[in-house]
Amino acid sequence: LMDRRCDLSRGRLKIGQVMLGEELLVIAGPCTIDPNNPNYFYETAAAVKEAGAQAIRGGVWKPRTNPYSFQGSNRSLDILMEGARRTGLPVDTEVMDEAQLALALDAGVTILQVGARNALNYSLLRAIGQAIADKPEVSVLLKRSLHMGPINEFISAAEYIAAFGNPNIMLCPRGTTPTLDGYRNHPDESVTPLLKEKTWAAVVVDPSHSVGKAVYVPSASLAAVAYGADGLCIESHVEPQKGIGDDPKQSVTPEELRALIVRARGLWDS
Ligand code: PEP
Ligand code: MN
Repeated sequence: LMDRRCDLSRGRLKIGQVMLGEELLVIAGPCTIDPNNPNYFYETAAAVKEAGAQAIRGGVWKPRTNPYSFQGSNRSLDILMEGARRTGLPVDTEVMDEAQLALALDAGVTILQVGARNALNYSLLRAIGQAIADKPEVSVLLKRSLHMGPINEFISAAEYIAAFGNPNIMLCPRGTTPTLDGYRNHPDESVTPLLKEKTWAAVVVDPSHSVGKAVYVPSASLAAVAYGADGLCIESHVEPQKGIGDDPKQSVTPEELRALIVRARGLWDS
């Protein structure tokens, strides 16, 4: 295999109807799909589409810090795919192991998320690279690890996947540790131009996990766009307080999302 980490000549990435680099991509949806209340996901998916999102996110399997917290459910995969069918939009969900990877691909998930906790799990990255090598319709949203340097480790993690032949990767800064006092993590959208100078991959910033509080998400989104992000991945829920996982704290409502997207696209286009 040839080391192409800093090769800028790899092709452009299309997510759903969006050619990255031609317009700002917005992926939005709840942190976690609630398998007991699927309508929250269906309503949220429709509402974020209406607000301007071009792809939907929703956690099926969740990497929870507390092992006694809700860990996700296989049942949520059907709900995720029904949301995809109803909206006609591609869906993004996190896979944490090879069994989940196989289930997600079988179901038709086209954006595989690698979470911050697994961004340094080289055997998972390799398994994903192998599994999608001949699936050009599948891409990967690769979160930055909480402890990862912005250039060598992050781009190398992407290359673990791309080395098998599918370069459809979105690097996703989502805040690092130690936290910036008051935020959930240390916001790191400022690594965007460093990544874009050094690699082919698109950069899609996740302001939600970075700041961790809905009220700060709009400014963090604008900062990401100002730094040159190709897209945003934002947690949103029709009723954040009824959500599970991170939603009560950090999900914006679809109305807030709509306002944020208008401002972010205005800045992106300017
Ligand atoms: C998420 O996207 O809900 C998530 C768990 O993200 P991260 O891996 O960045 O913490
Ligand atoms: Mn979350």
